[in-house]
Amino acid sequence: MKKLAIIGGGIIGLTLANYIDLSKYNVTLFDNPTGQATKASAGIISPWLSKRRNKKWYHLAKSGAAFYPKLIQDFSLPPSVYQQTGTLILRKDGELEPLARLAEERKLSAPEIGDIQLLHAQEVSTRLPLLKQLPALSISGGGKLDGASYLDHLRRHAVQKNIELKTVSAQLERTQSHWLIHTETQTEAFDTVALCAGPGLSDLLTPLGYKIDIRAQKGQLLAFETSYKNSGNWPVAMLDGESDLIPFENGRILIGATHENEAGFDLTPTEEAYTQLKQKSIPFLSNSAFFEDHSFAYRVGTRAYTSDFAPFFNCLPNDSTAVVASGLGSSGLTTGPYIGFLLAQYFNEGQHNWQDFQKTIDTYIVKEY
Ligand SMILES: Cc1cc2nc3c(=O)[nH]c(=O)nc-3n(C[C@H](O)[C@H](O)[C@H](O)COP(=O)(O)OP(=O)(O)OC[C@H]3O[C@@H](n4cnc5c(N)ncnc54)[C@H](O)[C@@H]3O)c2cc1C
Repeated sequence: MKKLAIIGGGIIGLTLANYIDLSKYNVTLFDNPTGQATKASAGIISPWLSKRRNKKWYHLAKSGAAFYPKLIQDFSLPPSVYQQTGTLILRKDGELEPLARLAEERKLSAPEIGDIQLLHAQEVSTRLPLLKQLPALSISGGGKLDGASYLDHLRRHAVQKNIELKTVSAQLERTQSHWLIHTETQTEAFDTVALCAGPGLSDLLTPLGYKIDIRAQKGQLLAFETSYKNSGNWPVAMLDGESDLIPFENGRILIGATHENEAGFDLTPTEEAYTQLKQKSIPFLSNSAFFEDHSFAYRVGTRAYTSDFAPFFNCLPNDSTAVVASGLGSSGLTTGPYIGFLLAQYFNEGQHNWQDFQKTIDTYIVKEY
């Protein structure tokens, strides 16, 4: 039996751990959750109408969304974790029709998009009463995932399968034959490692002579408590201008998120984020005092992003005993579970075929010494 260490217990690391064939591997997962992106996030799984031109990224994101039905079934994800309630996309006059045509085009290779409908203003506020009467495009295949609830669910699953979970910071050392993982109290040897550490990947690999193209991006969102009863069944809304409105069960309404490239690993909630999210969302809300009328909490996390904003997951250059995965940016809830699954397939079957999803690994990681 080989020993596998996973560093990072976000959406990639925990999904990977749960898909590993435990008749072949003894698995230990090390995670220091400070600043973790997945725990802070709540997101929309609806990548099909993205304006991004990177075809490999789109192939990955589309495949990630198509993977969700399997994920839900494999781990029996409850509605408190994931719900497919459809997406409403709000755009300026004249932009909705071309978007609907693009959706029809993309549906040919992504039937998961589901029903595509241009909605009149009144219909929009009936479907999602928080919104003003504004026209929108509806796609029924869109879903929403609560990152923290997903991780709680998968941690319970992992414990039932006897995967060892250690809440601790880890450091790496490479010997001729093994990987050594050092924590504050222990050093342990492993045959193989999976490094799913988000923006923490640089700190793990730089001391081993690697140069990594990864940066930290601060993200903040606001979680409001309201008294709406059936909010769990409401669709999510992608508001024009890159903010999202994500209703969850029991009146919990999330509005997010910021993308702060200069804030690094800082986790302080800021007034600026509140103001920015308010300014972006108020023009769409039926209650212009929504922000003042409800209590809220900040959720703050650190995303990882690369120079071309595309994720990577692969073996380390010239070392098939280690895989790395990071740079998921703003779409990691869509791509993360599928990446975790593909990495597990590599460990279970010993082969991979990932080139259609990403550039080569030396685009992002170079061994310098
Ligand atoms: C506010 C916010 C909103 C978002 N909204 C969306 C959205 O709507 N849709 C979407 O698709 N995505 C969204 N995202 C992005 C998404 O959450 C991330 O892309 C994804 O969760 C990244 O997953 P990951 O597993 O790569 O990293 P993470 O979830 O960050 O997990 C990495 C883990 O590794 C740990 N770690 C690092 N170094 C070490 C070490 N040396 N030892 C031990 N542990 C270590 C970290 O602390 C962390 O716990 C959002 C992110 C934020 C912050």
